[in-house]
Amino acid sequence: MILRFQSICVPAAVLSLAFLGSSAPTLIAQTGTAAKPLTAMPYSPSLDTANLDRSIDPCVDFYKFSCGGWQKNNPIPPDQSSWDVYSKLADENNQFLWGVLKEDGAIKDRTPVQQKVGDYFAACMDTDAIDRLGAEPIASAMSRLDAIPSRSSLITHLADLQHLSSGSYFFASLPLQDPDDSNTILVWLGPNGLGLPDRDYYLKTDAKSVETRAKYVAYVSQMLVLAGEAPTLAAAHAADVLKIETVLAQASLSQVDRRDPYKTFHKMTVAQLNKVSGVIDWPSYFKTQGAPGLATLNLAEPEYQKAVDAELQTEPLDALKAYLRFHLVTSAAPILSSAFSTAEFDFYRGYLRGTKEQPPRWKRCVRAVDGQLGEALGQEFVRRTFSPEMKQKTVLMTAQIEEQMQIEIEQLDWMSDSTKKEALRKLHALRNKVGYPDQWRDYSALAITPGDYFGDTVKAERFDRSREWAKVGKPVNRNEWGMTPPTVNAYYDAQMNDINFPAGVLQPPLYDSKMDDAPNYGNTGATIGHELTHGFDDEGRKFDYQGNLKDWWTPDDAKHFDERIGCVRDQYAQYIRVDDIHINSKLTSGEDVADIGGTLLAYMAWKKATSSDKLQPADGFSPDQRFFVGMAQWACGNTRPEEERANAVTDPHSPLFARINGVVSDMPEFSKAFSCKAGQPMVRAKVCKVW
Ligand SMILES: [Zn+2]
Repeated sequence: MILRFQSICVPAAVLSLAFLGSSAPTLIAQTGTAAKPLTAMPYSPSLDTANLDRSIDPCVDFYKFSCGGWQKNNPIPPDQSSWDVYSKLADENNQFLWGVLKEDGAIKDRTPVQQKVGDYFAACMDTDAIDRLGAEPIASAMSRLDAIPSRSSLITHLADLQHLSSGSYFFASLPLQDPDDSNTILVWLGPNGLGLPDRDYYLKTDAKSVETRAKYVAYVSQMLVLAGEAPTLAAAHAADVLKIETVLAQASLSQVDRRDPYKTFHKMTVAQLNKVSGVIDWPSYFKTQGAPGLATLNLAEPEYQKAVDAELQTEPLDALKAYLRFHLVTSAAPILSSAFSTAEFDFYRGYLRGTKEQPPRWKRCVRAVDGQLGEALGQEFVRRTFSPEMKQKTVLMTAQIEEQMQIEIEQLDWMSDSTKKEALRKLHALRNKVGYPDQWRDYSALAITPGDYFGDTVKAERFDRSREWAKVGKPVNRNEWGMTPPTVNAYYDAQMNDINFPAGVLQPPLYDSKMDDAPNYGNTGATIGHELTHGFDDEGRKFDYQGNLKDWWTPDDAKHFDERIGCVRDQYAQYIRVDDIHINSKLTSGEDVADIGGTLLAYMAWKKATSSDKLQPADGFSPDQRFFVGMAQWACGNTRPEEERANAVTDPHSPLFARINGVVSDMPEFSKAFSCKAGQPMVRAKVCKVW
């Protein structure tokens, strides 16, 4: 769980540590009808009047007006914790990929890419073979753990565990960019020891948190029993696991603190690390990971690492072994037999997020291929769904919105000329990545063996880790992507200083080449603007045009900026997330400001791009109204209360209704378009404006 300074557009579900990759969703057939592989992508327009609820006054609740129909017509499928336009499109992409993978599994004369994705998918689908194996695939790793004779050999074994498998074993290390010099790779060492999503789960004392911990202990115990322990012993061990993790949680930074890059940046030599944390033989540890002779690194959270040290020295050996055993089992559970994968699902997606059913196997397997062989599968996706014309159009829209950002910066009345100069320099240096990487990742060294799902997954994970560690000592490759092409999401990377829009997010109903400009600028244009402003938000503004952590703001400008952020924080803190839980706007303000600023940029860019066109009303809406309805309809969705509760702790994004109503109530352009009156809920007396 090492931090990287990426701001994504919508939340990826927080799983404990999923072998099966990211969030993403699900079933298109919501009534239990079996879904089928698709041979073509389905189409829904980027502005759809069927999604409206015309009984609602747009000036009272614009989100409900724009999305009430969608919400009614799209109940949350039982295998989902939330369901919205993004997740529905992700599901359609998955269903389409399912068709591609079935084809790639069956055809003769396959390319090497088709062989890998096709055979890996087929092995994942063979649940009979997977169930027959039971716990066998992890048996040897478990016996190695059982046989550990002493505290010192357990500590030595940590290096192997972290090198060989993807579980949470106290901490983790990963080569990433150096905040001081974004052209250089620096190894990061940071927290990775909790089984629950965040430290708050261990520290809060309300009834729900107490219940959650009891359920977690029961889950830990269940996993240990599945791995072969007697129930009474497993129950005692589960209590040990909670005790260890609570100590680690107490030493962890909060989500809000983790947004401050300075709080996670402590560059030091390995000798200095040894003074903070003396129980591990660090040179040998880094040699095992793949970086022999490593000289310097970044220790993200020193207090956390000290707590790890203390735990390793004071907890009974038996408790430490139980902790490692549990994490080994739970991290492998999604790729083991159904007894394991169901238990893992029931706790993490079922109890914690309110999902009613496991996604069907095909969906989990498509996501597994996307997770492990994403740029191989991505080639198959792009070839079929993202034409050169679409690329050209979306690249143009991105350039227009950047131009608008330039105009905004030049006109700001609260920013000094010297800070403006640096801001423009950063804007001009920013790179746009649209659709897919210029160079595809090379998987030729990864052999996929038909019929060996567990083995193939482990090999793919190790292949990926080796690829990461091979970057140490080499210049940063700026062509790499942090998302796969079919992903329905977008992000800004502060150290790369780039914005990234995978082909998956540039499909209808988000980007709709059959539709006119108004809803497209409202929807995709606002997303582009959103990512762009992340370069200048509470986190992004701390990085300069090269992606280095460096303050380029005058103290006065920083003060003005903070005042304006304060306005947004006060505004969003008033919105209720679920039950009596308000938005934690200190956590969400970066995203809220991006939503507000991004929409304004898109609006201005749209006005300019269509200034010589004679725009016509349609469906009873003026062109301006269509821009805003198109904008709002990206966010149509339903969320289970359990999911909203989990998001309240970990998600830097506001809930969907606030991402629309919060934005439009700050835009006089909106009240004008809908003739809203002062005093109505969508018209704020005091408008917040950063960009
Ligand atoms: Zn964002």
